[in-house]
Amino acid sequence: MSANQNRLIGGEFLVKNASYNDIFTFEDLSEEQKMIMESAKEFIDKEVVPNKHRIEKKDYALIEELMKKIGELGLLGVSVPEEYGGLGMSFSTTMLVCDYISGATGSLATAFGAHTGIGTMPITLYGTEEQKQKYLPKLASGEWFSSYCLTEPDAGSDANSGKTKATLSDDGKEYIITGQKMWITNAGFADLFIVFARIEDDKNITGFIVEKDKAGEGFSLGEEEDKLGIVSSSTRQVFFNEVRVPVENLLGERNGGFKIAMNALNVGRIKLGSACLDAQRRILDNSLQYAAERKQFNTSINTFGAIKEKLADMAVSTFTSEAGSYRAAKDVEDAIADNITSGMSHADAELKGIEEYAIEASILKVWISDATQVVSDQGIQIYGGMGYSKDMPMEAAWRDARISRIYEGTNEINTLLCISMLVKRAFKGKLDLMSPAKNVAEELMSIPSFDIPDYSELFAQEKEIIENLKKAFFMVAGAALQKFGAELEKHQQLIIATSHIMQEIYMVESAMLRAEKIANVKGADNAKYAVKLVELQLFKSVEIVKTEATKAIISFAEGDEQRMMLSGVRRFTRYNEYPNVINLKTEIADYIIRENKYIF
Ligand SMILES: Cc1cc2nc3c(=O)[nH]c(=O)nc-3n(C[C@H](O)[C@H](O)[C@H](O)COP(=O)(O)OP(=O)(O)OC[C@H]3O[C@@H](n4cnc5c(N)ncnc54)[C@H](O)[C@@H]3O)c2cc1C
Repeated sequence: MSANQNRLIGGEFLVKNASYNDIFTFEDLSEEQKMIMESAKEFIDKEVVPNKHRIEKKDYALIEELMKKIGELGLLGVSVPEEYGGLGMSFSTTMLVCDYISGATGSLATAFGAHTGIGTMPITLYGTEEQKQKYLPKLASGEWFSSYCLTEPDAGSDANSGKTKATLSDDGKEYIITGQKMWITNAGFADLFIVFARIEDDKNITGFIVEKDKAGEGFSLGEEEDKLGIVSSSTRQVFFNEVRVPVENLLGERNGGFKIAMNALNVGRIKLGSACLDAQRRILDNSLQYAAERKQFNTSINTFGAIKEKLADMAVSTFTSEAGSYRAAKDVEDAIADNITSGMSHADAELKGIEEYAIEASILKVWISDATQVVSDQGIQIYGGMGYSKDMPMEAAWRDARISRIYEGTNEINTLLCISMLVKRAFKGKLDLMSPAKNVAEELMSIPSFDIPDYSELFAQEKEIIENLKKAFFMVAGAALQKFGAELEKHQQLIIATSHIMQEIYMVESAMLRAEKIANVKGADNAKYAVKLVELQLFKSVEIVKTEATKAIISFAEGDEQRMMLSGVRRFTRYNEYPNVINLKTEIADYIIRENKYIF
């Protein structure tokens, strides 16, 4: 029996329309999940928020201390199976913890994400039984901390090109690792290092577990990097000069390190999206409070339309980010459950479940990190000159937001990946992209209807538009693939434009399904403002799709073909009844100003 029989598989949101019944939303959190959320939130409010001035002064020891305390609460082990000392919680719960631990400061968010995600998951997913028993209980409790060493001075986005070498010793008992890693989070206080190195002239790198205490003199660390943001997150270079590691510490298979690194990043990416959520909520709450208190021209600045517009935009961004994140979280969780039912081991089930939604993970990483940057920028603007001051929370929020667009695969790499992973899934026969592309091509030749349909049902027009945005995607992607075939990968700007269309579709559809669920489960009255948020998100997404599709088409189509496709863009992004965007933003802003809080 499937955990959710109607679950769409990875990437399938483009070819099928999900029903609100089949998606998970923030409003669906169980009582147990809400308790965990509250305890994470309480911890951050008590232990982190009052200490933010220390965190902004490179207090690395404080971050280590906070990590220890999070360990004592059990929250470092949420994704570690119970038999290895963790809490073995569901995937959506692990996303929730990540969400609420990460909001107040990027320094702690980064330390937490690196330890629980890329630092622990490779062992959970690929470790031998002995490795899991030896290391996971220590990592789950916070007795030990971990870090993940993939990046090198000459191997960043091209992660498989690292020069770090691992050579088997003459007696065959050890690997001898030599090389240099850089930008390694948690390096300053980690006890365990997941290290990727190449054995002989292998095509791919291989993963190793290196214990600092046993690494000997050949192991050393660089100074702490002087960074723009996340200033108390430890980031150092790690040097390996003939560091001896027992052969039992090879992780997974020889030559299998790139796969481990990428799968660890799939988890890292989806969780990075969730790690930006509470940052958005907190920035908005702070902005609401400041805008209520700050007076200019004898009135609170929150009475000005210019400020209201920003507050409303921030709420739209936060609502949509939450919708996408929790939708994907539960899809992964259900895929894991289905894999277990079909006989896979827990580790394999989790690995395959996360891999299944790698496209969605990349979308969430890019969209939410970009959105958080914009929200923090709007926060600074609402604070005016005080936004620029280190004494106020906005300045650090803005600097901290910047890194999320760089690590766990830059946003460019993830944006490109969305399309290449989609095409791969189609080639493997997992997704039928040909039929929708063909249908759209046929539809383009037909005369459009100018009848105005009945839009009295909730989201009737919005659903029609989102379906049309999917057609716009297939029109552009189908034609581009036909034009360039395998050469398409050389046309990055075109792929990026197409990928942005896809990203908007997933996010706005998630927001709409969330609001529809609220309306159906809690009643229309309770969904009143959520519906307005969706209308605003859709208006914005349609504009983005229009721009990206037009840009893409002009780059490769000419003459009649171009004219026909541009008329397709107009057709697939058409509103029959426009929402009054300015009124909607005013209503949203007035509501959250009244409540003095983001309360969706
Ligand atoms: C604070 C911090 C913490 C980090 N923590 C860790 C960690 O714990 N472990 C770890 O292993 N790494 C870590 N990193 C490294 C991080 O993952 C890399 O910085 C990131 O992957 C980008 O690599 P790079 O810096 O070499 O940039 P580059 O790869 O040199 O990229 C530079 C620019 O070129 C673009 N680019 C590169 N290749 C392509 C391409 N094929 N197509 C289009 N555009 C391209 C990029 O998008 C980027 O805009 C961290 C980095 C920072 C700054």
